Amino acid sequence: MRDAESGLWAGWREASARAEVDVALRGLYAELDATIAAKGPTCWSSGKCCKFVEFEHRLYVTGLEIAWFLGGVTAAEGDAETNEPCGGIRLPQFAEHPGACPYQIDGLCSTHAIRPLGCRIFFCQQGTEAWQQDVYEDFLGRLQSLHQAHGIEYRYMDWIAGLEQAGA
Ligand code: SF4
Repeated sequence: MRDAESGLWAGWREASARAEVDVALRGLYAELDATIAAKGPTCWSSGKCCKFVEFEHRLYVTGLEIAWFLGGVTAAEGDAETNEPCGGIRLPQFAEHPGACPYQIDGLCSTHAIRPLGCRIFFCQQGTEAWQQDVYEDFLGRLQSLHQAHGIEYRYMDWIAGLEQAGA
């Protein structure tokens, strides 16, 4: 990884470990979940949304979201030696999950509580596209503001590529 990219990931790891950023991100996700719940979409747990190639779907997230997510995965693993955001994390084997999110296990998200914004909004149920777009734009704007408010570099990237970069 180039020095500039390493510096960005180090910055996101540091930011994601800050208590005020953690509170702000959790608050944003909670508000988003409540907004979506009020819309009442149905999920049949088909798992399609996380099989990107098969479903012709891409997921975009921010570098901060990935760093925060990986910190949560590491903490959940409870490994005292690697229990720091992204530090020494054991990423799933991407090669075993070609074209799909490696955190989907038996058709279900294994990281449901800490999944990024894009995962929370997307539903494959027909008729939900219109409100999904509006909610997405609203909350993506709020996520951008969160980055600005905490002095965090904002970069938007493909989920799988970002995970691989963060673990490199
Ligand atoms: S984090 Fe969970 S919801 Fe998001 S793409 Fe991966 S398995 Fe799907």
